[in-house]
Amino acid sequence: MARKVLVLGEVRDGSLRNVSFEAIGAAKLAAEGGEIVGVLVGEGVNALGAELIEYGADRVVTVEDEKLKQYTSDGFSQALLAVVESENPEGIFMGHTALGKDLAPRIASKLNSGLVSDVTSIEEAGGNLVFTRPIYSGKAFEKKIVTDGLVFATIRPNNIEPLAKDESRSGEVSSLTIEIKDLRAIIKDVVRKASEGVDLSEAKVIVAGGRGVKSEEGFEPLQELAKVLGGAVGASRGACDADYCDYSLQIGQTGKVVTPDLYIACGISGAIQHLAGMSNSKIIVAINKDPEANIFKVADYGIVGDLFEVVPMLTEEFKKL
Ligand code: FAD
Repeated sequence: MARKVLVLGEVRDGSLRNVSFEAIGAAKLAAEGGEIVGVLVGEGVNALGAELIEYGADRVVTVEDEKLKQYTSDGFSQALLAVVESENPEGIFMGHTALGKDLAPRIASKLNSGLVSDVTSIEEAGGNLVFTRPIYSGKAFEKKIVTDGLVFATIRPNNIEPLAKDESRSGEVSSLTIEIKDLRAIIKDVVRKASEGVDLSEAKVIVAGGRGVKSEEGFEPLQELAKVLGGAVGASRGACDADYCDYSLQIGQTGKVVTPDLYIACGISGAIQHLAGMSNSKIIVAINKDPEANIFKVADYGIVGDLFEVVPMLTEEFKKL
């Protein structure tokens, strides 16, 4: 059944996040030949409409307002609900990001709709769209079909391939004007911690350190390796609790969930709460002194050794490539 699907493009620091294009790729599967309408909410977002079209949206609707400069649940839900009302779609897709996790359930409840969250793949089987999503902290996967009403899903970053960018594509970028009112909170400014390099949640390569790294300085060889591989540095909660690094780097059940192409775990034991955040990585390399460490159970490649010897060796070898 051909469906009209809305896809919310997510903007950070003036650029579209990659998960926006992945959500279009997912929506293309769900639309079954129907129209894909990109949605952009914010201030100064009109200019990004063309990029959503290059990645597969047929047209784009924007809601611009200075009150939407920063994300707020109230403001963005008013904007998205207005687009839903004017477009009357059969599907809504967005990233399973901090923004998507906050916004999607709110929109679903306002529309009295179901929601399939944290989707990692979509396929067609027996005439149904089948959504796969991890459960029990990634220890199992469940498959869901939507039998009735809106097909509403959030897409886990780095799992569904975006469509190839096609700069020859064109489509209409139109704006919808609404009055944003009754905001319970107004965010004046967001001051980000200075961070170098690649965004952890979208990184294709992650070099993560655990308590085995032993100190803040112990992270330096990991940073070097990540730099050579064009990746980001992550951490276990053990390392964060020990104050070796910032909690923004924490991966796991109570940290970020990541699915890079390559995850290099250095001095991480592999506690279940850590695995919950990284076990769906495509290739896992574990470096640990203890051959019995649990991390080796999920690793594709294991190196039993001292990370302070192994990591610099890897860095030197990768530099040669
Ligand atoms: P450890 O378990 O101490 O492991 C350190 C490892 O380093 C050991 O395997 C050791 O052999 C190895 N090592 C030591 N020196 C070297 C060396 N020189 N070279 C190589 N290897 C070396 N944890 C998370 O990570 N993320 C979460 O989101 C999270 N959420 C939690 C939520 C709850 C409710 C609870 C109860 C716990 C949570 N935890 C989480 C904590 C989790 O249970 C573990 O305590 C934590 O992951 C351990 O961190 P670690 O592997 O770095 O440390």
